[in-house]
Amino acid sequence: MSAPREGIRVPEARTVQPGGWLGLLGGGQLGRMFCHAAQGMGYRVAVLDPIADCPAGAVADLHIRAAYDDEAGLAQLAERCTAVTTEFENVPAASLEKLAQRCQVSPAAGAVAIAQDRIAEKSYIASIGVPVAPYAEIRSETDIASAPASLFPGILKVARLGYDGKGQARVESPAEARAAFASFGNVPCVLEARLPLEFEVSVVVARGFDGEVVTYPVAENVHRDGILAVSTVPSPRASADIVRRASAAALQVAVGLDYCGVLCVEFFVLQDDRLIVNEIAPRPHNSGHYSIDACVTSQFEQQVRVLAGMPLGATDLLAPAVMLNVLGDIWFAQGGHAAEPPWGRALESAWAKLHLYGKTEARRGRKMGHVTCLGADRAQAERSAAQVAAALGIAFP
Ligand code: ADP
Ligand code: MG
Repeated sequence: MSAPREGIRVPEARTVQPGGWLGLLGGGQLGRMFCHAAQGMGYRVAVLDPIADCPAGAVADLHIRAAYDDEAGLAQLAERCTAVTTEFENVPAASLEKLAQRCQVSPAAGAVAIAQDRIAEKSYIASIGVPVAPYAEIRSETDIASAPASLFPGILKVARLGYDGKGQARVESPAEARAAFASFGNVPCVLEARLPLEFEVSVVVARGFDGEVVTYPVAENVHRDGILAVSTVPSPRASADIVRRASAAALQVAVGLDYCGVLCVEFFVLQDDRLIVNEIAPRPHNSGHYSIDACVTSQFEQQVRVLAGMPLGATDLLAPAVMLNVLGDIWFAQGGHAAEPPWGRALESAWAKLHLYGKTEARRGRKMGHVTCLGADRAQAERSAAQVAAALGIAFP
């Protein structure tokens, strides 16, 4: 799985030694887990995020409270840090470019810009010969009228700023697509054919400055209401051939972008075993959280290593894993007002590892944490997950 590329090592001058400062744009849960990994290796982390009580702000060595395009905040980050990365894919590309004049920034602004925009993303992926869902760019009502009938039933997705199923509408006809387009404020969209999914998988890739690449084990993902609910590793349904093809396609996406950092590629597996790229994320991904407990090197430690110019770590799976996302919904199991879930009961499963992101307010659909259930084999991990899910009131499988 780990396939170090032959080549020039990162010059020592480009590495950041432990004790040095790493910078992060974005202070959400991904940033918090980055801080844990970085600090575990002796690094210090400065996080730029406008929100006072953001998850990473509470653990970072320095929290710069500023907007992502704030000149003074960006200058402070660049002054403090040798190398900067992002955990938030919607950070303005101009901010990354500005930082890049003063410190080492990865992934590069160009790669992030592609992942930020579904139109650019799909055309890039198709251009390297990797299949995407049939789609049309929608910039006006006329584009809906001229979209092929084969795109219906379809999904209209805003090109920018959508996440966790937000900014998406299932549409049965051009009339419904027009209504959805108007409801999104006529912003650029993609209209995608709704595909018969057999299941979904994802692959996390890390690529260093010297081109060294590693892929993580393929995760099989179940979404509910457009939000990731469960990831299982190894994937119960992916054949060895699908695992091989998904890993190869993910590498191709990363290499084609000359990507430096951690990247996740989400795939659809169709009934005829065809593999389609759904979308990419220029950062660690929810479907890779299992790697914290189940792999030699977590996706966050890998992000630290790339940023610091250190050699990449092995990605081998130490134990089968089932990751359950913990959404704010379970705080409202009793109806009315929020009540703390029974964590102790969940942890009666001795193979369960609880991760909470320190968010003070639980809201329905909000990612509050996750539980990774391990096992000597997949059946045991699944039994642990079933026990945790029952205790917390999460649907499983
Ligand atoms: P987000 O950026 O919110 O994660 P996605 O484009 O990944 O949005 O869509 C969320 C989920 O919706 C997918 O994981 C998949 O389950 C479903 N979905 C999205 N696009 C399609 C499609 N073209 N056909 C069938 N299901 C889809
Ligand atoms: Mg997605």
